[in-house]
Amino acid sequence: MTKRMYGTSALCLLMIVVVGAGCARHRVHTQRPGPFVTITFVGDTGEGDQAQDFVKQYGLRKSFENVRAALKNTDFLVGNGETPIADENVPPLPGQPWHPKQTPEVAKVYAEEGFTAFNLANNHCLDWGVTGLQQTIKYLTDAGIKTFGAGMTEADARRPLILSKNGVKVGVLGYFDKQKKYDELGMWYASGDQPGVALLSEANLRDDVAKLKTQVDVVVIFPHWGANYHAVTKGQQSLARRIAATGANLVVGSHSHTAQPVEVVDRVPVLYSLGNFIWHSVGLYRQSKMEDFAYTLVARIEIDRQGVRRILLTPFWSDNRQVKFVSQPATSSQAKKLFNVILKPLNNDWDLENQTAVIDLQ
Ligand SMILES: [Zn+2]
Repeated sequence: MTKRMYGTSALCLLMIVVVGAGCARHRVHTQRPGPFVTITFVGDTGEGDQAQDFVKQYGLRKSFENVRAALKNTDFLVGNGETPIADENVPPLPGQPWHPKQTPEVAKVYAEEGFTAFNLANNHCLDWGVTGLQQTIKYLTDAGIKTFGAGMTEADARRPLILSKNGVKVGVLGYFDKQKKYDELGMWYASGDQPGVALLSEANLRDDVAKLKTQVDVVVIFPHWGANYHAVTKGQQSLARRIAATGANLVVGSHSHTAQPVEVVDRVPVLYSLGNFIWHSVGLYRQSKMEDFAYTLVARIEIDRQGVRRILLTPFWSDNRQVKFVSQPATSSQAKKLFNVILKPLNNDWDLENQTAVIDLQ
């Protein structure tokens, strides 16, 4: 795919001034030859909690109505599985103030909507205890969806998701940042034979990436990090640098429930957070003054054996207080306003095609 070019630098400057839209630098790209694979990543996913009445009235598929088309024509679809799937008789973990849960039939719906895998390395996958985690993995596996980032042992939790197509092999590792509250529970992070999530630590990253690089062409890290309804933290920025230093090729993050910036750190593209995808809470956008970032990014990534070729980001407005659990395609002005902020670290080296931002990394 050739990058859309603009006629003159004067026109480019004019466009920035007039519409404030991103405008590609005059860089000539030669398309890298050879096959590639397309992986679409989406953010925080869960259908229950405050959406229970909505689901009762409209069913589990209604929330996919507007995003469904953006999930098509991809080889794989991977999301952040931030909500346990557990039976009615499973008790919640004591002391968790908010513990959303999904009913087992949701697994089949996710499979039919195209999900390949869910990352379970997050701060909710144990809200219904180890039994809840075990049932989540079982229901998803039974529906044909793979899981990674959490498991019944540390080795399970740190086992990568391997995606292979067209001769391109990609490995994805999921981790949850070390957060005090969860660390103090003493049972959240998998350790030896203890179930839990994979810990985002320098040692784990170094060892896991080194091992994975001998098995695959491209390594993706999927961290659950930062702070809810908050801008990118210094901690995320520092971790991004440490991840890049391991030799990983791409970082796709989650946890903030907002769309966060994209930057290239030491030649590694870092998507700090994709925001909520199909999500069952109205969120704290208004209270946190983060309404401008109440978007979900559907991130379609083209990867060949040399790394990431292109990133295509399609935004959907996902402020549930406004969209009532059915995310809406961003309008042209919403998309421009959002991308001009979150793609600022790319120095205008991206194009807008309809409402989709195209970042060419070849
Ligand atoms: Zn989270």
